[in-house]
Formats: sequence, C-alpha cells, structure tokens
Amino acid sequence: MNKINSKLPDVGTTIFTIMSQLATEHNAVNLGQGFPDFPMDSQLIDLVSKALKSGFNQYVHMSGYLPLREKIAEKVNKLYGATVNPDTQITVTPGGTYAIYTALTTVLQPGDEVIVFEPAYDSYVPNILINGGIPVYISLKYPDYSIPWDEVKSKITPKTKMIMINTPHNPTGSVLQESDIQQLREIVKDTNIYILSDEVYEHLIFDNIPHQSMLRYPDLLERSFVCFSFGKTYHCTGWKLGYCISAEDTMVEFRKVHQFNSFSCNSPMQVAIAEFLQYEEAYLSLGHFLQHKRDYFQQLMKNTPFKALPSHGSYFQGYSYEGLSDESDRDLAIRLTKEYGVATIPFSVFYHDNTDNKVLRFCFAKKAATLEKAVDKLKTFGK
Ligand code: PMP
Ligand code: GLN
Repeated sequence: MNKINSKLPDVGTTIFTIMSQLATEHNAVNLGQGFPDFPMDSQLIDLVSKALKSGFNQYVHMSGYLPLREKIAEKVNKLYGATVNPDTQITVTPGGTYAIYTALTTVLQPGDEVIVFEPAYDSYVPNILINGGIPVYISLKYPDYSIPWDEVKSKITPKTKMIMINTPHNPTGSVLQESDIQQLREIVKDTNIYILSDEVYEHLIFDNIPHQSMLRYPDLLERSFVCFSFGKTYHCTGWKLGYCISAEDTMVEFRKVHQFNSFSCNSPMQVAIAEFLQYEEAYLSLGHFLQHKRDYFQQLMKNTPFKALPSHGSYFQGYSYEGLSDESDRDLAIRLTKEYGVATIPFSVFYHDNTDNKVLRFCFAKKAATLEKAVDKLKTFGK
C-alpha cells in the first residue's frame, strides 16, 4: 500500500488528549482539558433512562427530534428575540465541534479565505485546511484578548468567505460587547461573507454581561451558522450533542453535508433534553454558578505567584507566569504536571506560530475540593 497523502500533514494529537494523558500518568489534578468533575443533573439522567425504556432507540429525524427543535426555537426566541423555524433552521448535531466542521464544509471552496482570531480553539484551523480553505490569522489584543477591528477591515479581500467568532471565548474567557457587534455588522454589510459563531459557552457568562448571540441580530443571523453544545449547558461533555441554527437557505446546504455524515444523532438523549429544556433555571443559573467557581479559584490562586488575566466567561481562566520562569508555556505546563501534579493547557498551542505570551489556561469548572487540591500543590511554585 502507498502511504496516505495526509490531508493534515502538520497536525499532531490534540493538546487536550496529550495533557489529560499526562495528568493520568502522573496522577495530577487535571485543570487542563475542559470538563466538569461535578455531577450532572440526576433528573436529566432519569429522563434519558425513561426515554430508553419507552423505546426511543431508533433513528430520529435527520434534522433532529422535532419536539427538541421546537423547544430550542422557543428558548432562543425567549432569550435572544430570534424567530427561528424549527423545521428549516435548526439541525441537531453530535456536538458543537461537528456543527462547526459541517458549517465550514458546507461553505468553503478551495482557496476561500477564513478570518480566524488567535488564540483559536484547536479544531478551527484543521477544519478550514481540510476543506481547502486558507486561514487568515488575526491575534486578539493581549492581555484582554479583544478583537482589533481595524486589522479585520484591512484583511478583508474578495476571497474572504467567512469570519469565525467565539464568544464566550476558549481559551481566554473574553466575551464580545455590543460595540464589537456593531463593528462586525459594518464589516459584513453588503458583502457575501458568512459568520461562523461558536456559542457553546452561551450560558457560561459572568459579571452580568449579556451574551452577544448572533441570534439577536436578524441581519447577522441571515449570514451565520450559530453553533451550540448541550455538553456545556448540562455538564455532560461526553454526550456529544449540540445543534446549529442558520438561515433557511444555508441550512438546506448544511443538511446535505450532515445527512451523509452522521445522518442523525443519539435518540434517547434528544428526547430527554426536549423535556428537560422546560426547566429554564437549569441553564439560567449556570452563569452565576460558574462565576462563583471562577471567583473562588481566583481567590485561591492569590496564594501563588501566578497573575490572573481577565475572564468573563467559559470554563477557563488564563494565568500569566511572566517574570517567574523563562520556560516556554508548553514546557512549563508539562513540568507543572510532572513535578507539581497539576495539569493545565499552554496558550501557545492555540496560535499557528505558537505565540508564547507566557500564559497557561486553567479550567475552573471543578468541585471546590479539586480546585483547593490543585492550588495547594502550586503554592510552592517560584519559591
Ligand atoms: N467550541 C469550543 C470553543 C469548545 O470549547 C468546545 C468544547 N469542546 C466545542 C466547540 C465543542 O463542543 P462539543 O464537545 O459539543 O463538540
Ligand atoms: N473544549 C474542551 C477544551 O477546550 C475539550 C475538548 C476536547 O477535548 N476536544 O478543553
């Protein structure tokens, strides 16, 4: 057999797998990969079990279980004032990552340019490349990681097909403001540019900041693929269930790709979530719940020499170690895992050129005892 001509020759194993594996090997507290270590709602587990026992074990509709899509439409109407047709504008997907991949595959032709802000979630660029697209990189402004809109304007060309937005942002925890939306609107007005909006952390937003969903703005929604994840909303990242919302005509094309990939998604979980979505408090209380964890973690980390960068959303908090070590962030993340027993994620992996501002990402979506244990281990760092 000839060797495969790799479609992703420069891509290795994702950092999340690498750091989680290293954490296991060294029995370290895992504040690297983003997943909660506290239990999910038992009522939702009971609803899945009810669905399994009631026989919801065969394929549901290719676009998703209709009652679930109807509930999603009600939810986004209430939260964002969006009028979305559950029949034609919502597709349930096996996770948010899949929704993003499908949207890029739907839209991109070889040679199309996609604006990507760095640091960028690690699936974005490989998803662009595998579709023959060209990533056009723009660095968010350190240390608040805001978008440099003038640079965005200067990088728009006739080949710009898409702009990728992620709010709340992984890995930085930055969030878009209304002023950002105004800039985005100005830039895309009278163009054929699509927007990929990764909003998997929509409910994990703090400090009373409203989530700037593309769904709030009809002129943006008509050109957007807005991607969500139930894994993040219901503390069950292993379920791999999410959805995409877009305009009708773009959703027709999205479904053409989706139907020959996964076709449909896990039935009993869709049935269960369709019922569980009526309990609004479960998602409306999330921001407050996670904000409390962020604040507790920040307070604990004051006993270490690391310096907190701003985080207003997501599971994550960046910490600078400027002045504490000359190591690269990757080397330090590995050493902290091996020698201190705490796994983190180095920010540089989210840049194509490995820009290293000496920042590590910590996941604070953990039980208080886990956060305490981790910080206790870090106390002697730098001493
Ligand atoms: N986008 C971002 C920014 C994420 O952090 C995640 C979490 N993995 C996803 C998308 C995808 O979520 P899912 O696990 O539902 O694929
Ligand atoms: N989204 C999670 C993170 O950023 C993990 C996703 C993954 O492991 N692929 O850590």
